[in-house]
Amino acid sequence: MDELKQIIRDIPDFPKKGIIFKDITTLLADAKSFQRMVDLLAHRYIGEKIDQIVGIEARGFILGAALAYKLGTGITLVRKPGKLPSQTRSISYELEYGSDSLEIHEDAFKEGDRVIIADDLLATGGTMAAVVALIEKMGVEIHECAFMAELEFLDGRSKLPEGKTYSLLKL
Ligand code: AMP
Repeated sequence: MDELKQIIRDIPDFPKKGIIFKDITTLLADAKSFQRMVDLLAHRYIGEKIDQIVGIEARGFILGAALAYKLGTGITLVRKPGKLPSQTRSISYELEYGSDSLEIHEDAFKEGDRVIIADDLLATGGTMAAVVALIEKMGVEIHECAFMAELEFLDGRSKLPEGKTYSLLKL
């Protein structure tokens, strides 16, 4: 696990001064690390009867698609406004400066679908909390929110449903 942690690179002052950006592109680009990361996460959910993975734009699509393939499920996309072509429902949420919105197709799920929501990194938890709020009214059962990595000091998991957050790497 330490090898996986070490391959994630710190980029200071990106996208703005004072932020240490955790750059996962180095992990994704390394064949062994990428495979190990996906295998370890997928292993956690084998046999859990998951129906759909929900991937959050954009880096959540990478983990989400890999998990869906391994688990034999579909993947549903949560996208920035105006990208999804059919009927959508949307949610707005607060960022450090201003606000943002995310959308999902209205008919994405069947009643009672068990889903995992996937994203690359848990920071403040604002994005994942918004996606939880967006889909929990759609008749699904949220099995877990899954991340490649988590910035533990930000305590983002306190914004998410109790006991339903898992991250492979604690940074
Ligand atoms: P948050 O809503 O604060 O949990 O973060 C939302 C998204 O922003 C995450 O999915 C990450 O992709 C990205 N993000 C936030 N903080 C960082 C960081 N320090 N390094 C890399 N990505 C970040």
